[in-house]
Amino acid sequence: MKKEQQLKTTIQKQLKKSGFKMTPQRAALVDVLVRHQDQHLTAEKIFMLTKEVSRDIGLATVYRTLEILMNIQVLKKNAINTDGIVRYELIHSRGIQLICKNCGRVIDVDQNFMQRLTSMIAAEYHFQSNHDFNATNIEGLCSECAEKMQDVAK
Ligand SMILES: [Zn+2]
Repeated sequence: MKKEQQLKTTIQKQLKKSGFKMTPQRAALVDVLVRHQDQHLTAEKIFMLTKEVSRDIGLATVYRTLEILMNIQVLKKNAINTDGIVRYELIHSRGIQLICKNCGRVIDVDQNFMQRLTSMIAAEYHFQSNHDFNATNIEGLCSECAEKMQDVAK
């Protein structure tokens, strides 16, 4: 519960920092995203859930807000959408993601590694962080693509 609140506050701060106002509709939408962060929701589902709290929200506002959240790197479209339906997920809950520049593959850095990394940061920089990595993407090549590139170079 406390973690959810923290996450909401972080997102709200980021919106403000980027010059966006926190309207009640946006707050309700952020709340929905945070509460359902383990599920990857479609825009329609987000709209329905937000409407339960904020009756006057329209689908257009939902899309616009999702767009804004993606622009400030809080939200992203799910990379795997085999059925062609766009689903959204909070980047924030995921910590660090490794993104292959060649094939677009996304590798989530697991919680164990994140824990090791935060303790390393604490030791090295005397900076306490609670895995609060904010949309950290590391771009590069996945093992498969790196191998393929090597083959080409030969
Ligand atoms: Zn790749």
